[in-house]
Amino acid sequence: MTPTLPRANDAPTKLPAAAYDIACVRCGRLAAFLAEVRSKHASYFCRPVAPFGDPAARLVIVGLAPGMHGANATGRPFTGDYAGLLLYETLYEFGFSNHPESLGAADDLQLTGARITNAVKCLPPGNKPLPEEIRNCNGYLAAELSVLPEGGAILALGRIGHEAVLRALSLRARDFAFAHGAVHELPRRVRLFDSYHCSRYNANTGRITPAMFKSVFRAVARHLKRERAGERAA
Ligand code: SF4
Repeated sequence: MTPTLPRANDAPTKLPAAAYDIACVRCGRLAAFLAEVRSKHASYFCRPVAPFGDPAARLVIVGLAPGMHGANATGRPFTGDYAGLLLYETLYEFGFSNHPESLGAADDLQLTGARITNAVKCLPPGNKPLPEEIRNCNGYLAAELSVLPEGGAILALGRIGHEAVLRALSLRARDFAFAHGAVHELPRRVRLFDSYHCSRYNANTGRITPAMFKSVFRAVARHLKRERAGERAA
């Protein structure tokens, strides 16, 4: 059956149920690892981490997977460790949020027009999910991306996020090569923007700098602004 995809002005008020399942244990290795981590860190979330942000987002940011002491601990993507610092600061700078930092599930942070999710919802050992785990989790991402309106934007943080997006949209990876700063035209006027992941490792090695990251966000903002202008003119 062909899904009914949202038009430009459609604004979902919540994500489809198929976009997330807190009880999912489809990946045996990851479920066992979470149980092990939970036994050492009783206060940690240690479950599949839900997308965070605006259900009506025109920008969906796709990372890799929860970090051990970040999202896996707090239950919110890119929150609690280094990886989120630049991301949330940049979202604030570009008007997508009401605070420049994400402190944890109890703060009043709100994203407007943007949502953050991961290709793999459970913490993988060594930050490295197996290919079958990425495939297992892809249905959730596909359900989430199914509500992205026409003319929306997807920002992939790293190659795994990029490839997960293409898989979720039934597009071939070889037609859309990952590169920092690359922009890919997808169906329904959606654009996929690529960035290196804003991890501590990439920041420390100089692979990603705040200027490089913000330059990608500028391109995203330009696209969304053009689309908005086009809608108003239509
Ligand atoms: S990674 Fe995804 S598919 Fe695998 S157990 Fe977690 S939520 Fe389920």
